[in-house]
Amino acid sequence: MNEREHDMARTVIIEKAGGADELKLVDWPVGEPGPGEIRIRHMACGLNFIDVYQRTGLYPLAYPHALGMEAAGIVEAVGEGVTHLKAGDRAAYAATPPGAYAEARVMPASQVCPLPDGISFEDAASIMLQGMTVEYLFHRVWPLEAGQTVLFHAAAGGVGLLACQWARSEGIRLIGTAGTDEKCRLAMENGASACINYRDSDFVAEVKALTDGKGVDVVMDGVGKDTFAPSLDCLKPLGMMMSFGNASGPVDPVSLLTLAAKGSLKLTRTTLFTFLADHARCQDMARHLFDKVESGAIKVNIGQRFPLDQVAEAHRALEGRQTTGSTILTL
Ligand code: NDP
Repeated sequence: MNEREHDMARTVIIEKAGGADELKLVDWPVGEPGPGEIRIRHMACGLNFIDVYQRTGLYPLAYPHALGMEAAGIVEAVGEGVTHLKAGDRAAYAATPPGAYAEARVMPASQVCPLPDGISFEDAASIMLQGMTVEYLFHRVWPLEAGQTVLFHAAAGGVGLLACQWARSEGIRLIGTAGTDEKCRLAMENGASACINYRDSDFVAEVKALTDGKGVDVVMDGVGKDTFAPSLDCLKPLGMMMSFGNASGPVDPVSLLTLAAKGSLKLTRTTLFTFLADHARCQDMARHLFDKVESGAIKVNIGQRFPLDQVAEAHRALEGRQTTGSTILTL
């Protein structure tokens, strides 16, 4: 590697909030890792809906800012105090701050995880963020048990197909929703026990019919604005609403009295990065995810691959509901 390659890396940045045209591939400085940091050379990066929120300004950034929250690659150097990784290690992460759409970067080491040899860089780049999200939704928010029923929106998406498989592996009945019959078929193949095309039919009525009028124990909702309110009507009394995303737009304000009137419902709005903030918990979540993959319980579904310089096309496909499973950017 020559001196220049060491100092600069092709990186996707935005200079202001806006549409996919704001994504610019530029040479961006990398530098040397300071205390608690590593320098990592990426082999593949993951695309996630949070990248869209950051690009549009729904989740504001200080501009100019590099984008991307997930990647896998090889550690090139570690800063003082980093003990769980060393130069030459295979590694993968979902982490803040954004900056993963890049050939290489310097970043905090805490949320970077050693990657087992049996998991490829592309597979890791496609599951770290979405898979650890499923891990905390099923295990760390609420004590879900085998035999319980979950309604999961956008079940054929990146998080969705992992959730279908995770539910199957835990003996949890997952009723999915998706925007086309083809997407519903994919969700069922991945372990959903039923899947409702919510563009064609009233999902509240369908969920009631599928649960003998009782409703579900938990709703996991990453769609947000369009699904939040009707989803409350899908819950059993004392049920738990886990709101975790805004693919259709942010959820309107909710009256606490609504939760009382609909049967003492519980409500949480979670974000992965709260769970990853603790180093030991983050490493434990990654290990749990890798175990699921290595045991065969979870099969990686990379639905789309885009070269880094076609990142705008990748964003348009994700926003346009054109993708299934996970999407990666290749380097
Ligand atoms: P997906 O692959 O699931 O893509 C989003 C899907 O949402 C679309 O494919 C589409 O599926 C559905 N959708 C419904 N309405 C719309 C709309 N108006 N515009 C666009 N999409 C819509 O994305 P991800 O797997 O990356 O993420 C899923 C959700 O989970 C996102 O909201 C994301 O922000 C959230 N998330 C939250 C995390 C957290 O910890 N809080 C962590 C990770 C993800 P269909 O056509 O079937 O309706």
